[in-house]
Amino acid sequence: MKKINYKKWFIITFVSLFFGLLGFALLKGENEYIAYLDFYERINNEQIETIFYTDSDKIRFKEKNNDKIFITDNPRKENFKEEMLFKGIEFKEGASLGNAISNIFGICLIGFVIFMVYKSANKTEKNAISIKEFEQEDKDNIFFRDIAGNEEAKENSKDIVDFLKYPEKYERLGARIPRGIIFYGQPGTGKTLMARAIASEAGVPFYSVCGSDFVEMYVGVGAARIRSLFKKAKENKKAVIFIDEIDALGKKRATSLQGGNEEREQTLNALLTEMSGFSSNDGIVVIATTNRIDILDDALIRAGRFDRHIEIGLPDKTGREKIISLLLNNKEISDDVYIDDIAKKTIYFSGAMLESLINEASIMAIKDNSDKINKNHIDKAYLKVLAGDEKKDRTSIREKDKEITAFHEAGHAVITKFLDNNNTVSKISIIPTTKGAGGFCLNIFEDKLFSSKKDLEKQIMINYGGRASEEIIFGKDNITTGAYNDIEKATKIIIDYVSKYAMFDDTILNYSILNEKTEILNKKCKEISNKLYKKTKQILEDNKIILERLANELIKKETLDEKEIEEILSF
Ligand code: ADP
Ligand code: ZN
Repeated sequence: MKKINYKKWFIITFVSLFFGLLGFALLKGENEYIAYLDFYERINNEQIETIFYTDSDKIRFKEKNNDKIFITDNPRKENFKEEMLFKGIEFKEGASLGNAISNIFGICLIGFVIFMVYKSANKTEKNAISIKEFEQEDKDNIFFRDIAGNEEAKENSKDIVDFLKYPEKYERLGARIPRGIIFYGQPGTGKTLMARAIASEAGVPFYSVCGSDFVEMYVGVGAARIRSLFKKAKENKKAVIFIDEIDALGKKRATSLQGGNEEREQTLNALLTEMSGFSSNDGIVVIATTNRIDILDDALIRAGRFDRHIEIGLPDKTGREKIISLLLNNKEISDDVYIDDIAKKTIYFSGAMLESLINEASIMAIKDNSDKINKNHIDKAYLKVLAGDEKKDRTSIREKDKEITAFHEAGHAVITKFLDNNNTVSKISIIPTTKGAGGFCLNIFEDKLFSSKKDLEKQIMINYGGRASEEIIFGKDNITTGAYNDIEKATKIIIDYVSKYAMFDDTILNYSILNEKTEILNKKCKEISNKLYKKTKQILEDNKIILERLANELIKKETLDEKEIEEILSF
């Protein structure tokens, strides 16, 4: 069927109407302006026959024995009509013929403009938002088995699948079900993959949009899109709505007075409204991704909205081994390729980088006319991927980083265990998190109502463990900025220790409310800090063999769990 070209017809009608009216107006000789004083004089001379009164700035009038229509200023006087009628002038309210025509003309013009804006908005919409938006992506389905590593995130995601499958069960038990989930972590770590797997595993449709597509749209269009997206999803009763790069929409609002981006705000509000409009037995979850959760607007991550946050981080060595195996699954590889080796030298690689490494290696193999991927292909691909990642060869830097982080985290762990054997170190990792730390050491302390003086000192020393270890192993000149956070925490505890809790000496005073506090306070803080740092270093020196053993194990495996840590740290 031939499509009618509305735009063409609109332009033709519009242009002919325009010239027709122009000619009409010229023939009528309308629009000759008469000053108000002059107009008044003509009234007094009884020259005027009719006044065409409208509410606008100007009014029109016609003289006796003259077909011409004149125009003058509207006096907007209260008794204007009465006054004119007394003078025997005909008073017509509403538009004159010419006026009416020009009004019609105006309406046409407005209609045309609206039509054009609507058309072009529709067009940008189509260009900007992926067509996939409303389509159920049922081909190339991804399942949990296609995602390697990320065991914790997978475990969390299984809960969501269960909810999608059996929402009644949760409703019956009165459990609050997560509606909005945020996957956060570095790019290419498999966040999208995980969201798609949730939908496939639960057997529900997957609707995806990208936050950045909503930027630079016409005001209101984004909000409308959001509403129709949810409407579509609700028609299915159960669905996963996926919003990639939500930070493009939900960044913390600017505090400046000039206000934020109105379109973004409207879209965001539409999203929040839709989410709070779920009824309890709707089987719909919204999954959003971001590289950085800390830049999101608080309104977005508040309870009842996107209140479940799941980190999807860079894979550790075991994770990388799994991903590489998965990627090599359907490929021919020669005997000199060891997955363990590749995993070892790809520290800080994301899943996506590993994917491109294997892909590059396949391309190298094809170029070589080889039917198998060999070690040489992998090595070349490795350099290529790294070079793309950063110009200089980062291999050596990465190795050094890894070593420093390993000793830093091992330092925390050794001190934790040494100070109290009841403390548990449940996980240590040298894979950076998006929260900024180079690695982390997860301690679990006994729950206590009050902290004793000894407890506070132990906490300070555990914080100092990272820096102390760096200093002992790499020398005073090679300490790093990695201890920034630890030092801040230790300092806060020390200030409270001295000031709030008066634990330093026998002077029981709160220095923070005492005048002339700073000098004494500083002196006491320095003293306790120096004492505890020295003690921390001493413990590490005395247990250097254990420290080294733990650090080396970390360099080898990158993450250690509680059992592995216990094995090394038994004092
Ligand atoms: P993100 O959404 O976190 O930016 P994606 O989910 O788009 O990352 O992942 C990009 C690609 O990287 C995937 O298509 C997949 O090939 C690969 N990938 C990333 N993480 C994994 C993983 N854990 N297991 C398997 N492949 C992965
Ligand atoms: Zn630290």
